[in-house]
Amino acid sequence: MARIGIIGGSGFYSLLSDAEQVEVETEYGRPSSEVSIGSISGIEVAFLARHGLKHTLPPHKVPCKANIEALAQLGVERIISTSAVGSLKASYKPGELALFDQFVNTTHGRDDTFFHGPKVVHVSLAEPYCPEMRTIASRHGFDHDSGTVVVVDGPRFSTKAESRRYSAYADMINMTQYPEVALAREKGICYLGIGMVTDYDAGLEGDPDVKPVSYDEVGRMFSSNVERLKSLISTLAHEIPERRSCKCKDSLIGAEVKA
Ligand SMILES: [Zn+2]
Repeated sequence: MARIGIIGGSGFYSLLSDAEQVEVETEYGRPSSEVSIGSISGIEVAFLARHGLKHTLPPHKVPCKANIEALAQLGVERIISTSAVGSLKASYKPGELALFDQFVNTTHGRDDTFFHGPKVVHVSLAEPYCPEMRTIASRHGFDHDSGTVVVVDGPRFSTKAESRRYSAYADMINMTQYPEVALAREKGICYLGIGMVTDYDAGLEGDPDVKPVSYDEVGRMFSSNVERLKSLISTLAHEIPERRSCKCKDSLIGAEVKA
């Protein structure tokens, strides 16, 4: 049983050197990859590569329900998730690591609930990211302790006009936070979202020297920072307490519609 699950995003396909590979089958299909179970800082963790071990799954094809269900089956109570993000603000600079505290979803057609009836559930996502994990993480030198991420379908990057619109309400942009974080909440699993800023989306308004993103740039930036990210995850795995004092696990209490 691994209490802590780690979902690695673009550029982050392995974490554990000496791990057991577990094939998990769920009622929602297979997860993105085999799950690696091993220890980090002496704590057992389960690692899953969101886009597959060879990055063959585009954002809209990530089997989010199977991924969350697979981690739940393995006993995961807390998820640390990493994602590459574009910056929409000059203050979020490429190479920096940010903790998300809010998201705005603009994706369409993704299966974003475990409850399609007859059981009807409306979970609260006012605070989508686990407050207990965010408090612990904020002591460890992230460049930003909060930030709103807008989630878009992709797989293409934004136009300048789209980027300008998103920047009115979000700091970062990403293609995979939704519905992953919402599904974790429905399962009562705590979720910490870490964004690695890789680029300035469609460039920066008023600064013609800042060029729009290319995927090559995302990959380069990520690989140069992945060791720092691994070290932070190792610290967090060690410091996250076994007993949860947050309310994430009680997400279904009072959320079910009763006739
Ligand atoms: Zn929590």
